[in-house]
Amino acid sequence: MIDRTYFEPADLEQARSMLAGAEGLRIVAGGTDLVVAARSGKAPLPERLMAIHRVKELIGLDSDAGGGLRIGALTTHGDLETSAAVTQTWTALSDASALVGSPATRHVGTVGGNVCNASPAMELGSPLLVFEASIELASGGGFRSVPFSSFVTGPGRTSAQPGDLMTAVVLPPLQGPGRVGSAYIRLEYRLAMEIAIVGAAAMVRLDETDRCIDVRVALTAVAPTCVRAAQTEEMLRGETIDPGLLERAASAATASASPIDDVRASADYRRAMVPVLVRRALTRALDRAKPN
Ligand SMILES: Cc1cc2nc3c(=O)[nH]c(=O)nc-3n(C[C@H](O)[C@H](O)[C@H](O)COP(=O)(O)OP(=O)(O)OC[C@H]3O[C@@H](n4cnc5c(N)ncnc54)[C@H](O)[C@@H]3O)c2cc1C
Repeated sequence: MIDRTYFEPADLEQARSMLAGAEGLRIVAGGTDLVVAARSGKAPLPERLMAIHRVKELIGLDSDAGGGLRIGALTTHGDLETSAAVTQTWTALSDASALVGSPATRHVGTVGGNVCNASPAMELGSPLLVFEASIELASGGGFRSVPFSSFVTGPGRTSAQPGDLMTAVVLPPLQGPGRVGSAYIRLEYRLAMEIAIVGAAAMVRLDETDRCIDVRVALTAVAPTCVRAAQTEEMLRGETIDPGLLERAASAATASASPIDDVRASADYRRAMVPVLVRRALTRALDRAKPN
């Protein structure tokens, strides 16, 4: 048993052996959730911290030959907001990162921290659901991959085990027939330094006649985790989307919402806003899927 309180691995192998050898070690990346929560009295700072900012294997975005993208856990929101690969292909993800906090927050806040903090209002959650992302994890015992849809299990909870380090998010290729557009929109009371009251992400694939051949929709901040809006998707898949169908399908998304009252909004208000946000996200995704 190692008797230290601060660890700073230089690479992934060191990080894995520190996690295996030091009980109760907590990971810190940008610290914008962990340290801010401690300073504001929400949770004490953990007694043993492992700062991962020097672990080079967690840095960078890498496209694979099949058209997918591996986003290292230390990628910041600022990186996602400006990466050409993300803005052009996985646009909903850059929409979401561009909304996080302020430029200072986006400069240090990481993808790994946003995912592992597991807030129901996490900005990246709904985009990662519509892109059917998976999460790569490493521990002293080895490596594994978990679908994002089963990784976040509740507010502040994930299926990660003690000693797991998230190494990356992997986005599968979006290649296929037709044209794809995606978008993430959130309802907020002010334009910066805000948390989503309700958020929605949409991804649509249209054929050459503008018929919707695939669609995925997800909701933020209206359930214990971000959730897919299955009824909305079923109503739109295979259809040519006119304004009436769009309105009905957006309304159906409330079936997937189970919001709570909190300091930022009542459950009723959140439920009422779900169709509005879903309609706006779908409209923007449809616009982006159409030829310029
Ligand atoms: C002013 C301000 C505004 C904000 N606005 C928003 C917003 O609009 N939307 C939003 O979604 N969030 C927002 N946040 C929250 C925060 O910035 C993001 O969630 C950010 O992505 C967290 O990343 P981090 O690297 O700072 O995480 P950290 O604070 O370092 O870590 C967060 C949690 O994840 C764990 N962790 C971190 N990295 C890993 C890893 N690789 N493997 C395993 N566990 C890990 C830590 O142990 C901790 O439990 C805001 C925060 C602040 C301070």
